[in-house]
Order: sequence, then structure tokens, then C-alpha cells
Amino acid sequence: MKSLLSGLALIGASLCAPLLPATFAQPVGAPLPPAIPAGRAVPYPGLLTLQVDATDVARHIYRVRETIPVAGPGPMTLSLPKWIPGEHAPTGPINLLAGLVISANGQRLAWVRDTVEMTAFHIVVPPGAEQIELELAQTAPGSGSFSGTAVTPEMLVLKWGGVSLVPAGYAVSGIRIQPSVRLPAGWRFASALDGAATTPQAGGDVTRFAPTTYETLVDSPLYAGSHMRRYDLAPGAPVPVHLNVFADDEAHLAATPAQLDAHRRLVQQATRLFGSQHYDHYDFLLTLDDEIGGVGIEHHRSSENGTGPRYFTDWDATAPDRDLLPHEYTHSWNGKFRRPADLWTPDYTTPMRDSLLWVYEGQTQFWGQVLAARSGLLTRQQVLDSIALMAARLDPEPGRRWRSLQDTTNGEIVNARNAARGYRSWTRGLDYYDEGALIWLDADTLIRQQTGGKKSLDDFARAFFGIDDGSFVPVTYTFGDVVAALNAVLPHDWAGFLRRRLDGHGPGAPLDGIARGGWRLVYTDQPSAMAKAQEALYKYTDFNYSIGLAVGKDDRLSDVRWDGPAFAAGLPAGATLVAVNGVPYAADVLQQAIRDAAAPGAGAIALLVKADNRYRTVSVDYHGGLRYPHLERVPGTPDLLDAVLTPRP
Ligand SMILES: [Zn+2]
Repeated sequence: MKSLLSGLALIGASLCAPLLPATFAQPVGAPLPPAIPAGRAVPYPGLLTLQVDATDVARHIYRVRETIPVAGPGPMTLSLPKWIPGEHAPTGPINLLAGLVISANGQRLAWVRDTVEMTAFHIVVPPGAEQIELELAQTAPGSGSFSGTAVTPEMLVLKWGGVSLVPAGYAVSGIRIQPSVRLPAGWRFASALDGAATTPQAGGDVTRFAPTTYETLVDSPLYAGSHMRRYDLAPGAPVPVHLNVFADDEAHLAATPAQLDAHRRLVQQATRLFGSQHYDHYDFLLTLDDEIGGVGIEHHRSSENGTGPRYFTDWDATAPDRDLLPHEYTHSWNGKFRRPADLWTPDYTTPMRDSLLWVYEGQTQFWGQVLAARSGLLTRQQVLDSIALMAARLDPEPGRRWRSLQDTTNGEIVNARNAARGYRSWTRGLDYYDEGALIWLDADTLIRQQTGGKKSLDDFARAFFGIDDGSFVPVTYTFGDVVAALNAVLPHDWAGFLRRRLDGHGPGAPLDGIARGGWRLVYTDQPSAMAKAQEALYKYTDFNYSIGLAVGKDDRLSDVRWDGPAFAAGLPAGATLVAVNGVPYAADVLQQAIRDAAAPGAGAIALLVKADNRYRTVSVDYHGGLRYPHLERVPGTPDLLDAVLTPRP
């Protein structure tokens, strides 16, 4: 046996490839520079100051002066935040930093950028210097990118982390800093920062805040604008919660009493759910502006929320955006206070890891929908329609054949949020949000069923997120901690339950929560009101469940479902849809063509498309008619979804 095997191996090797020598020629590379030291848990000596002049809104420039005390001469490294909490990726806007000049004792100091960490700058502090002074600018902050600050003629978003450098090697919680900002004349602002004191000045008042830690500063963006209104969402409560609204038109700021009540019930329902508050005051920062657009970023004591201008003035049309505030608010508990251990870092240069985002984002997506229903920000039917849309998108998704849900938690790092995702059902994008929500619905209904309605995921939320009322020092957790907390509510093989759903390859999405809830996913030829509102608000027409494509801006195919009828016909994502059966494309023309193709004996649908600068006609051989998802009650079963969505007394 032995000689035969080695003989075969020798024949194979000699026929196919030369054996590699023990050593082989390779060029000599340069060694990597020393790593930027991770932040030690020791206080940085002295108080930094940061002055931001934000008055140049016409040219979209923030001008910054910063002072950093130094203990003595020698090498020093300064860093701009690279991994920003809540963004789950190295998105620090280093590309916008310009005009950096560092000096000490009136002398300019040379700086050298680190050749690996582009956000780090090395200097040598001269003898006798007690502090260094920095001058820098953030240029043309863009809108639409969630780490980019945004500036329009009517409002601005200032994220302090993008306009400041801090000493490397110290935990951000141990660096103390005093921020101030100069705003355009007549503008008002909101922020979670404490101790604001405004001094009137020609050309724009200056507001100085109390000294705080760099961790809190980065977590406390400032919103300002010429049209602003502030609503009290917890009148008379010991812990204040406010909604600060910024718009480019005064008329967009006005909430009706019923709208205001729904936002107040959100605060009530969330605090009843979690049984704690991890802030001493909380400020929703909400921009109603097409330029700044869709934004959602969580913080401990505030959240950034961006929608279109009609949030209040066209309540029904903006329904798809109305789980945004419940989602970001939930993050104060899930994500900020309780944080995955591999996502917490002492500083913002150390890489963050996203393995538990199916809890951090997935369960927040779940509570965002549930709290929207419990508060009345959405109706029960609107939430059921949303669940149907999530389930219908995920259930047939072929991407799960190659990519587990667990792997999608790397999505924010692997495919930047704005990367083209034309074959979304195959790439899977950020599925841990919606599929995470379905897993938690699955868990919730299982707990409700097994305990005869005595317990629910509410009990997990209270036990897991509701500890240490009043504290906003993060408490980290691991997979094992999640499993242990679930077992304390209902003994079960939760590790197996979760790992099967996280690591499996299908078929199908985790829809057991819908079934156990007494409902099933069905398709009809009419979209739900929520589906129609999504299409109108986000400007696309959805044919995903019939011919397998979505048509977006400028009649482009924003998505083509992998292995769907349009895909089988050879249609590429990104192509422009020109004509349907010889008639210029319009949504209703394609809808009618799909209806007609369902008639007995009807032919294929001919689509004229422009792709890669060529015109061609493809035949989509599909005869199933228009299809849109809905949830339908299963008669004779308990309605557990109703129980999930019912407000807590
Ligand atoms: Zn989130």
C-alpha cells in the first residue's frame, strides 16, 4: 500500500507541476511601522479644548482650533476617530480633513501621517512646550453618508469626531475635552452635551459646553438650523426626553396633537418595556430635509434621525419611516448601554467586530416595529404589512445558499453601505436587520406559546437591557450571555435555536414566528398600503415577487432577483427599461403586461432595455400574474402577533 501510494503521488507531481523548492525567490518588503498603541485605561493629563467655527455654511466648511496639553517633549501620535461607534465600519471621514497645521510655542511642528493608519499623525513635541495647538478644517461635508456631517443653507450636522484629533494610546473615556461652536446668526441648536453657555458675538454666537469625555463628545453630535422646534416628549417626568426638529421650511415643523401624543407614547412604552433609562436626558435630533435624507445613528443620550420634509405634514405617505425613531431610541438600551464585547473598543483606532449585530441591530429592528405599533406611530396593520414584506423578501432569497446570516454581520465592513447591490437577493447585504427581527419574533412567540402567555421577549428585554437604571457606562455581552438570559426566561436549547438560524443555508427564512403567531404569508395581485407607501416614498416600483425586478430612478433596474424570471431572461441589474411589448415603459404599462401574460395562451413579455450602451429586447417567460405579499390569519389559532403588538399597560 505504501509504495503504491507514494508511486502515484510521484507520478502526479512529475506530470502536473514541478515540486516547490524549500526556498524560493521573493522580493524584500519593508517592515510595517509599529502599530498605533491601543487606548490604555488611564486618564490623559489636562483638558483639551476644541473650537469649531460653523458659520461658513455657504461654502460648507468647518474651521477648527484645538489645544492639547502635553506632559513633556518627545514623540506623540494624534488620531482622528476611524471606527465610529454605531457605524460598524471604519468610516471616520479622514478624506474631509484638510489644512492641518500643528504648532507649539509659536513654532510649526512637522507631522507625518502613519503609512498604515491613515487617520494617525506622528509629531515630536519640542522641549518646553506645555501644549500643542492644531488648526484644521473639515471641507465639504457631504449629506447622505452617515459618518459625514452635513451642511445646507438651513441646517447643519456637526459630528465632533470628524473635526478633532486626540492623543493615541489613551482610552477615549479618559480624555477630557471642552467643546465650543460658533453658529450662523439666528440659528438654534440641539445636542446631548451638557452645560451650554452662549455668548453673543457679531457674525454668530459662540456656545461653550461643559468639559466632557471624548467618548461622550463623539457620541453627542450637534444639530443646528434656522428653522427648529423642540417638543417635550416626557412632560413632568424626572428624566427629560425631547424631540428636536429641523426643517428647511417652518411649515414642516408642526406636529399635530395626535402625532405628538404618539411620540410621547413611544417614550412611555419604551421605558415600560425596558424598565430603565440609560441617560439623564435624551434628545431626538430629527432633520426633515431631502438634502440630508435618510439617516439613523444611535447615541446614548440622543439619536440622529433623518427623513424627508413631509414627516408630519403627510403622515400616511411617510409611514415607512415611522419605525425610525423607535429603532434609534431602542439603541440607547440595545447597542449603546448593552454592547457586544467584540464591538466595544477603548479607542476609535482599534478595529470593531460585528459578530453580534443580529442582536444589536436585529433585535432593535424587532423592537422598532413593535414599539411603533405599541405607541401608535404605526397601526397594527401597517406593522403586519411590514412583517409580510420582510418575510417575502427573505424567504426565497437564494443568497443564503452561499452566505449565512452570521456572515452578513460583516456586511457593513465588506460592502460599504452605498455600494451597488443590484443582485441583493444573492449578495444578501445587511440581512441581519430584517432576518434578525424575524428570528426575535420567532423567539418571542416561542416563549409566549411555551409559557401560556405568562412570559415573552419583553421579559428578556427587561432582564438584559434594564439593569443598572440610570447608568450609561456600557455593559458588554457575549453570545453566551444572550443564551443565558434567554434561558432565564424560558429553559430551552437557545444556543442551538440561534446557531441553526444564524449558520444555516436554508431553504427559507425563519418564518416560524409568523406561523406560531397565528398568521401565514400569502400573495395577492394587490400591494398592501404599506408596500405602496414604500414604493412612493423610496421612489421605486416593485415587481420582485412576479417577474423578479425593481425599477428605480430614471427607469433603471435597481434590483434583479437572482434566478428570477427577469434574471433567467438575461436582464442585468442597472439596465434601463425602455419599452414593454413595444410601448414606452411606465409602471402601469408593465403591470398591465404582467396581468395580460397571465391569460391562457398568452406569450412572453418583451422588454426593450438599454444596457452597456446597447439596446436589446428580451423575452420574460412569466405567466404568474402580479404578486404582492400580505399576512393572513390562520383561523382557529391564537393571535400571538396581536399580543406582541399590544401596548404595555
Ligand atoms: Zn440600528
